[in-house]
Amino acid sequence: MPEHILSGIKALVAMKMRKEGKLQREIAEYLNIDRSMISHYLHGRYPSDRIMKISEVIAELPVEYGARIIHSLSNEKDIAKKLIKVIYNAKIKIDNDKCLACGACLICEAISIDGIEVKIDEDRCFLCGECISKCPMNALKFVEE
Ligand code: SF4
Ligand code: SF4
Repeated sequence: MPEHILSGIKALVAMKMRKEGKLQREIAEYLNIDRSMISHYLHGRYPSDRIMKISEVIAELPVEYGARIIHSLSNEKDIAKKLIKVIYNAKIKIDNDKCLACGACLICEAISIDGIEVKIDEDRCFLCGECISKCPMNALKFVEE
């Protein structure tokens, strides 16, 4: 079941990218999927209606919850990030006015601390959202790009 739901999320992303004018080839490259599968997604041949409904519910969740679910469905962090980017158009942001530089969020390679300044490397961030739950000051959050 989880891989079918992941396919549903990919189908939603493919449809959204197509609406935004991307070619099938570009969508296939972005998602690292065969073009024939993108064609199935775009023509509603796969996955089933039930799976698509579940996927739509996930896509309508607040990004904090949706990103967590997508990461739990995918073994590939970079693909999960791409799906989250298209669905939610989000990134992680730090509120330096709230941050106490306690270091509790230093749980991945994307976050570093320089003196009392915490930085997030967007290229290395997979948008998993785990750092948000580590911060005692509510200084980290998803924001729209
Ligand atoms: S969202 Fe995940 S990958 Fe990105 S900085 Fe936070 S913990 Fe690291
Ligand atoms: S956990 Fe929160 S308060 Fe602590 S360093 Fe990270 S962002 Fe700042």
